[in-house]
Amino acid sequence: MTNLGKKALRKEQSSKRVAWVGAIAASLIMLPGIFGSTPVLAQKAETTPLTYGDLLKKAKAGEIQKLELDETEQLARVYLKGQKDDTPPQQVRLLAQNTELINILKDKNVDFGEVSSANSRAAVGLLINLMWILPLLALMVLFLRRSTNASSQAMNFGKSKARFQMEAKTGVKFEDVAGVEEAKEELEEVVTFLKQPERFTAVGARIPKGVLLIGPPGTGKTLLAKAIAGEAGVPFFSISGSEFVEMFVGVGASRVRDLFKKAKDNAPCLIFIDEIDAVGRQRGAGIGGGNDEREQTLNQLLTEMDGFEGNTGIIIIAATNRPDVLDSALLRPGRFDRQVMVDPPDLKGRQEILQVHARNKKVDPSVSLEAIARRTPGFTGADLANLLNEAAILTARRRKEAVTILEVDAAIDRVVAGMEGTALVDSKSKRLIAYHEVGHALVGTLLKEHDPVQKVTLIPRGQALGLTWFTPNEEQGLISRSQLKARITATLGGRAAEEIVFGKPEVTTGASNDLQHVTGMARQMVTRFGMSELGLLSLENQSAEVFLGRDWMNKSDYSEEIAAKIDAQVREIVNNCYIKSKELLSENRIVLERLVDLLAEQETIEGDLFRKIVADNTQQVADAQVPVPH
Ligand code: ADP
Ligand code: ZN
Ligand code: MG
Repeated sequence: MTNLGKKALRKEQSSKRVAWVGAIAASLIMLPGIFGSTPVLAQKAETTPLTYGDLLKKAKAGEIQKLELDETEQLARVYLKGQKDDTPPQQVRLLAQNTELINILKDKNVDFGEVSSANSRAAVGLLINLMWILPLLALMVLFLRRSTNASSQAMNFGKSKARFQMEAKTGVKFEDVAGVEEAKEELEEVVTFLKQPERFTAVGARIPKGVLLIGPPGTGKTLLAKAIAGEAGVPFFSISGSEFVEMFVGVGASRVRDLFKKAKDNAPCLIFIDEIDAVGRQRGAGIGGGNDEREQTLNQLLTEMDGFEGNTGIIIIAATNRPDVLDSALLRPGRFDRQVMVDPPDLKGRQEILQVHARNKKVDPSVSLEAIARRTPGFTGADLANLLNEAAILTARRRKEAVTILEVDAAIDRVVAGMEGTALVDSKSKRLIAYHEVGHALVGTLLKEHDPVQKVTLIPRGQALGLTWFTPNEEQGLISRSQLKARITATLGGRAAEEIVFGKPEVTTGASNDLQHVTGMARQMVTRFGMSELGLLSLENQSAEVFLGRDWMNKSDYSEEIAAKIDAQVREIVNNCYIKSKELLSENRIVLERLVDLLAEQETIEGDLFRKIVADNTQQVADAQVPVPH
């Protein structure tokens, strides 16, 4: 694999939202303009308008019957004597001070009143203003609410909201779970406990309260628990361990109480606690801030489990992928006294899981599920489900009728290595990547113990700029020493090709991932598999990570001296393999060049063609592939 850090630029999402708010505000501000120009409020003037002078004259002459003064509008509405009732008053624009007019009117005893027609107009104006202020206010409140949501949630801690889910019927059956036969057999008994408890209590047997499902993520633990509830036809209560643990002490414990109370009301039923290691971790470890809350929650859980009799019809199923960190109190009889391993599926299991998930998809009859299972060692049930779904999506996108092997292959590539990118244009770095990848593939093909090449490609995927795929030959149960060495040698083939062709100063960072793999493999050969001169020692556990709680103290149980020896052995293995890798590539330089030319031109070479070219050009080694160095 060739690896170069390739980070996608993230788009600023917030800019979008700001633009949206802006658009609303703008349209609101537009509104008053539209309303303001409505002609409803403007009143028609008379054909021959009176001037202020005319008004004074008419007033003096006593021709005015009634007058309305409108201060705010600075208008006088004049009703002349002898005017018909239905004729509208004449309008006269007033001056700033109208003392003279008023005096005359008083003199003549004309009825003049002050009205403010503007009042109504002002009211309408106010209304219009409010119309766009209100939504703005609402918008502001919305934003404020959003930003204070988090803190208001924190204020609600006293009320422990029930965080568990309840499904009256899960609808999952055992036939939906495949590839975990042993686990299923053990759990079938649990179904009987739930369905016919009397069969056991009649002979005085105590029904186990808890079952612990142990297995890596995605192997179907949740699915199994649901299947038990589904088969027994009982309600399924589920909560995740991480949901017990909150910021505030006591919340988790009260959630446990709530959960068990609800469950007792609904017995017989099944309680599923996912990720129980989140609460059930060894107590009193004290590293990372002794978590009082977690301890209280765990204690409450233990108390509740002790609190009900085995035959109340409640069975608790918990799931974890870290059984080693669990508090031993959880594992003692009377609690989670049954432990069921849910392992990643083997070849047959994978095929069965694929069958389950192919049931509701249109899969072309030509697709061999067995071949897919073969190509996917290490895939869990969830990976396989996801794989078929990706293939189906791709099929829909390509507007095909049914999923074919093409889509499945593309989906596997995508699930394993990430999104496909576009190939580089012809350049020195493209050639370098081609040499690197052909280096892997050629060494892998020349070594007898190595898995066959499936394809070599220069089309980038995920972080990798080029990829070489190998088909695992058979189920990888046991791997021999020479197989491991062959893998190390082929993994070093990329860097070896770079060095042979471009020289030591020109080698690139592209091999960093390869080197990481190589070191890991070589180190395990020395420390776990007893495959070095150090002898048959097991010096490290599978999971060497420091885990807060337990593994912390006894991290390295070997001396400095041994550590130095381990390093020396690892170095020797890697060096020998690297020398072998360079040797193979130098001896087959001609075919290396030929394959690189072809790869640079076609961007992908399938395994069969690759092997044919190698065989045609290396007659002397074609029949007898070389063994790895010892
Ligand atoms: P876990 O709880 O072990 O992490 P899940 O049970 O949540 O895994 O599995 C996720 C999904 O993967 C399931 O919903 C199912 O579609 C699929 N899956 C996982 N294991 C299996 C299996 N053994 N058989 C069929 N489907 C599976
Ligand atoms: Zn590589
Ligand atoms: Mg799960």
